Amino acid sequence: MEYCKYHPLKPATWYCAACDTHTCDDCSDESVYSDERRCFHCGAPLESLGAAYTVEPFWHHLKEIFRYPLNPPVMTLILVVSALGALLSFIPIIGVVAMLLAAGIFTKYSFRCLEETAEGNMVPPDIQDAYQGGLILIVKMILLLVAVVLGGAFLATFVGTGITSLLGMLVLFSVPAFLISYALTDSILSAVHPGNILRIISAVGMPYGILIGLIFLMGTSVDVLSYFVITDAEWITATLQSVISNYYMVVMFHMMGYVVFQYQEPLGFYARARTADIPQVRTQAEKLKAHVSVAVKEGQYDKVISLYREYLNRQADDVGISDSWFEFLYRSGNRELLADFAGSYLKLKLKKGCQDQLSLIYRQIQQLLPAYIPQEGEVCYQLALNCFNAGDYTGAVRLINGLQKKSRDIALLIRSFLLMAKALDELQKGEQAAKCRQLVTQLQRKADSVS
Ligand SMILES: [Zn+2]
Ligand SMILES: [Zn+2]
Repeated sequence: MEYCKYHPLKPATWYCAACDTHTCDDCSDESVYSDERRCFHCGAPLESLGAAYTVEPFWHHLKEIFRYPLNPPVMTLILVVSALGALLSFIPIIGVVAMLLAAGIFTKYSFRCLEETAEGNMVPPDIQDAYQGGLILIVKMILLLVAVVLGGAFLATFVGTGITSLLGMLVLFSVPAFLISYALTDSILSAVHPGNILRIISAVGMPYGILIGLIFLMGTSVDVLSYFVITDAEWITATLQSVISNYYMVVMFHMMGYVVFQYQEPLGFYARARTADIPQVRTQAEKLKAHVSVAVKEGQYDKVISLYREYLNRQADDVGISDSWFEFLYRSGNRELLADFAGSYLKLKLKKGCQDQLSLIYRQIQQLLPAYIPQEGEVCYQLALNCFNAGDYTGAVRLINGLQKKSRDIALLIRSFLLMAKALDELQKGEQAAKCRQLVTQLQRKADSVS
């Protein structure tokens, strides 16, 4: 099994032939318009690995496989068909037809389970699928069985019993491959073709033996269980035996479907687990984050920078991405770009109501740019207020000092210089505080004359 190059614990679902790397769904670029995926690293189209790499092997999945038919519609189908089949079987002629019908319905339904499972659907298909074409299917199977038995009898008479029993073993051994092939191709002729059977067996490899063993075990347990349910009432016995064998039949076909699902790659058959991880189309922001994460792990910092800038040129208001861009600049110590971005970032955070984070962001900016003072009036006031409340009076004064050159908003200036005066009081600088209050008076006069 291959794992994502960037997430060593995650099974890979894509392969880039150009980079020779395996990636997961997160680390590849999906298109909004088509199924195609591209490599984040080089932009080449990716090959899907199907679910081949992510499927648990069937022998680790037996508990779920055994529980597969345990849902109300399937259990109802099993009970009703078994009971009716058993009741009618005591009536001559009608009984034979009823038994054929019951067997037909079950064989048909079991094949549907195989097909659906092979496609990655781990929930039993609709039981209505069972009613159509079941009789034809069972007649085909019976004819095939008759042909095999007649062929065997012919061989035994003219060639010898040794070779016949050897061939018989081979035929038994091929049965699961035949059933899988038939479910996938819907053609008896191509399913009995030894070439196709061999292809399936070799694609599955050694685990085909495990499959045979499990089917054999299940067959034996049907016999054993059938023995335990023998009662005095004949039809109850028949019903119970039929319930057991039908239940096991669904389980066996589901297990064969699971084998196809697991070995889909060597079988040349692609499907994805439909239950949980169908990759969703992500938002632009989610995709950017994933792309950035790949570029960071590849050490391509220039690419990271251009990805963020391109995105923020279009969506300057995206706080989440702005946060990650700021964090990247801070961690990578990029003073030049941080000086560019700091002002608009602080303004955006204030606009989005994140006053409480402003001081921390400002401190982080100052670690890289010690002389930095924001240019935006509102940002300066809010930061100064945070400083004042935290007891940092010098910081508050520093932020407001010279604000009249940055902002023409008189109300804001009045608020700010009043705050500055209070800070100066705290610092025991009465003279400067008085000057500050003078400025406030002038500003108030100006405001009155305007209004
Ligand atoms: Zn990944
Ligand atoms: Zn690539």
